[in-house]
Amino acid sequence: MENYFTVCIFCGSSEGYRPSYCSAAEQLGTVLGRSGIDIIYGGGRTGLMGKVADAALAAGARVTGVIPTFLKKTEIAHQNLSELIVTDCMHTRKRIMYDRANLFVSLPGGVGTLDETVEVMAWVQLNIFRKKIILLNIESYWEPFVDLIRHSYDEGFSKEENMSIITLVESIDSLLKIINESRLVHNP
Ligand code: AMP
Repeated sequence: MENYFTVCIFCGSSEGYRPSYCSAAEQLGTVLGRSGIDIIYGGGRTGLMGKVADAALAAGARVTGVIPTFLKKTEIAHQNLSELIVTDCMHTRKRIMYDRANLFVSLPGGVGTLDETVEVMAWVQLNIFRKKIILLNIESYWEPFVDLIRHSYDEGFSKEENMSIITLVESIDSLLKIINESRLVHNP
């Protein structure tokens, strides 16, 4: 039996201004594909979302997109995915992504990416599930976010253990190491 492991990726539907955002998204897709790791994400073909999906598909990954009907046109759904799930609303989209994921990775992105990242953090805090959430800190993108989380702790609004819900990584190599460790725990 094959050892399936699914990484859910949150990232921008835009490319961002720095070329390093796109190249990191492509590298991530490629290494996950080569490592035989499945991907689930929001199903768009624009921005970093499209870059991860295209690179992962080219490297042989099974890539599932989950997109709500109302976004299917505006976000330009990817047409060549292994599977495209069309949902009635955002809530169903997120639920499917969260359920199928073994681990979450956030790349740089806008409000949508922040929303999804914070939501899975809240779900871990509430013990709805216990899955790793890793922020790929390209160009130090996530530092202000981590500072805000730390500020919520310093000001008495977060518990100390909540500080360890997210893991900040500086390179794709470090990210892959954590993913492979989790994969071993999942499929010993
Ligand atoms: P963004 O990071 O804003 O480019 O969005 C990345 C993903 O999050 C896309 O798949 C969007 O559909 C989704 N998204 C965008 N805006 C929101 C929002 N307000 N709440 C939740 N998800 C969103």
